[in-house]
Amino acid sequence: MQANIVCIPGDGIGPEIVAEAKKVLNKVAAVYGHEFNFEDVLMGGASIDAYGIPLTDETIAKAKAADAVLMGSIGGDAKTSPWYKLEPSKRPEAGLLGIRKALNLFANLRPAILYEELSAACPLKTEISEKGFDMMIMRELTGGLYFGERKTFEENGEKKAIDTLTYSESEIRRIAIKAFDIAMKRRKKVTSVDKANVLDSSRLWRSVTEEVAKDYPEVTLEHMLVDNAAMQLVKDPAQFDVILTENMFGDILSDEASMVTGSIGMLASASLNDTKFGLYEPSGGSAPDIAGKGIANPIATILSAAMMLRFSFDLDKEADAIEKAVKKALKSGYRTIDIMPQDEDERASVKQIGTARMGDIIASNI
Ligand code: NAD
Repeated sequence: MQANIVCIPGDGIGPEIVAEAKKVLNKVAAVYGHEFNFEDVLMGGASIDAYGIPLTDETIAKAKAADAVLMGSIGGDAKTSPWYKLEPSKRPEAGLLGIRKALNLFANLRPAILYEELSAACPLKTEISEKGFDMMIMRELTGGLYFGERKTFEENGEKKAIDTLTYSESEIRRIAIKAFDIAMKRRKKVTSVDKANVLDSSRLWRSVTEEVAKDYPEVTLEHMLVDNAAMQLVKDPAQFDVILTENMFGDILSDEASMVTGSIGMLASASLNDTKFGLYEPSGGSAPDIAGKGIANPIATILSAAMMLRFSFDLDKEADAIEKAVKKALKSGYRTIDIMPQDEDERASVKQIGTARMGDIIASNI
């Protein structure tokens, strides 16, 4: 196939890690006979430096015209960077919010996988971590409490604040369909997380999810209350395949799930709209503390590129090849600084390498 990919290298380690993802995609293209065309655009701090604003209309137009967007990360050190002397709506992160809105990205996907070779970094007890886990958290991104009406006012001499949590049937249906579609490509189980014992919005969430489930007889749907889900993520994470949930619950649970993997440089993510289009980026930030040193872990960005092949281009075989290439690199003992073992003996059994070398090894494994 032929695909046009807009790349937003961004700030900090962004350009370093995106370069490695491109390297791996070029290898996939060569091996499997595809043509991926890349175009770099500016966003975040890099765009402020060039144009005075974090997101230009031109960047939005190019992203909209592309088949998918691959991003590094945005932002700098809030204490030292001049970008943070600007008012909040002109800072690098405003670019990120702006592009998500412009592209109507309503579904955020964050896989949390515990790799056997990195299980020592998992903060859970060995009897839990040794079972491993591989889950996909799907969070609704444009509705709920973060976008509902809010106000602060005074009543009887004291301040009061109100936030509203609203969801419509169509908002729930479109993300539920995405979750079931993705479960069909995985182990065919959806855990829908809500607070249906208290919230009306959750009861609607539950009933619409059940309606959607009727179109997917092969997929098992279970419902779980959010407080229980927070517990189960640390008690028995292996039980989860796809977790489907609303905006705020997803915000909290996806961070919890990523922390139990123990390795931020390994965490991919995707944000999708209702077509096949998506924006793919590592979960971590621009890591200004290590930018320009050639030591950042490119694996989260490379795995985000694999998600792009799977979800935007339906190239499942090629996505599998990237994931296997990453596992092989880990199995062969290659580690970037962030995933080096703490234990002295274990450190002696692996090889610490930099960003570009990790990209080379993964590309050569394909
Ligand atoms: P961060 O994720 O950039 O860094 C946290 C720690 O993790 C640092 O010690 C960093 O060195 C390490 N780290 C992160 N990614 C790594 C990688 N690939 N390889 C090795 N180590 C890695 O979080 P932060 O320091 O809170 O934020 C820095 C900047 O990134 C801020 O400006 C923040 O707003 C921005 N940010 C951007 C995004 C995004 O672009 N989507 C997301 C989160 C934070």
